[in-house]
Amino acid sequence: MGALCRSACRRFVIAAALAALSLPIPAGSPAAAAGPDDVVDAQPACRAPEERLPLEVPRTAAPPVPHPAPESPGDYRHRLTPSPYGWVRLPGWCVWVEPVTAGEDAAHRRDRLWLAAVEAALTQWSRAGVGVRRTHDPEAAQVRVWRRRPPLRKGPDGRMRASHGRAQLSLVEARSQRRRWLEPRVEVWIGQGQGARGLQATALHELGHAFGLWGHSDDPADAMAAVPGPIPVVELSERDRATLRWLQAQPSRIGEPLETPARAGGRP
Ligand SMILES: [Zn+2]
Repeated sequence: MGALCRSACRRFVIAAALAALSLPIPAGSPAAAAGPDDVVDAQPACRAPEERLPLEVPRTAAPPVPHPAPESPGDYRHRLTPSPYGWVRLPGWCVWVEPVTAGEDAAHRRDRLWLAAVEAALTQWSRAGVGVRRTHDPEAAQVRVWRRRPPLRKGPDGRMRASHGRAQLSLVEARSQRRRWLEPRVEVWIGQGQGARGLQATALHELGHAFGLWGHSDDPADAMAAVPGPIPVVELSERDRATLRWLQAQPSRIGEPLETPARAGGRP
């Protein structure tokens, strides 16, 4: 994986790509039915903050995070990378998924296949313990899932490479009324150039990044594998779940109130 925020975080402004991890195009993607839309929203409604501003909190204000995490059997925590403000985790994530329109032609059927794959992946992460809150307002979302292939990106060999999916994290200062907090925003791009299982595996992988697993497993049986195996992984492994459980127990400033003085001209 690429380094998480080693060059893009200078001047404490992380509006640019803090992290962008792509799933390489796997071999083969046999068609199969995707899971149902059964993500339940049992948490408070998502609301857009009044403002989102570039983050200007000194990185030195963040508590030190041991990195890499000590290895532990049964998970791949040591392969994850924290943000400069701690591990990326929230008790609940507001998720917006690009809607599809009704229609019976091939394009609409493709759109529905895509949506079913994303919903199935969200269900997997939700059942593993991620607090998934759905919103119809993209401005209220911390995770936005777009139905499009990510832009080509230059590989280590200098050649432009395509991928089926990508997730990119930014950290911003969010404000509403008198509150200010450190908010993550993740853009997830998932293309449509695969069968149902391939789509679901890509969605599962990229949403894993979105929910804080910024790193890759070295086991192709894991959803977060760096190099996918010949059979798309459409269910989380026990190692994926264990890594998530560890992540969710880590300290972080992500989502927490900002205590630094207000900007000039800002609210007190
Ligand atoms: Zn990845």
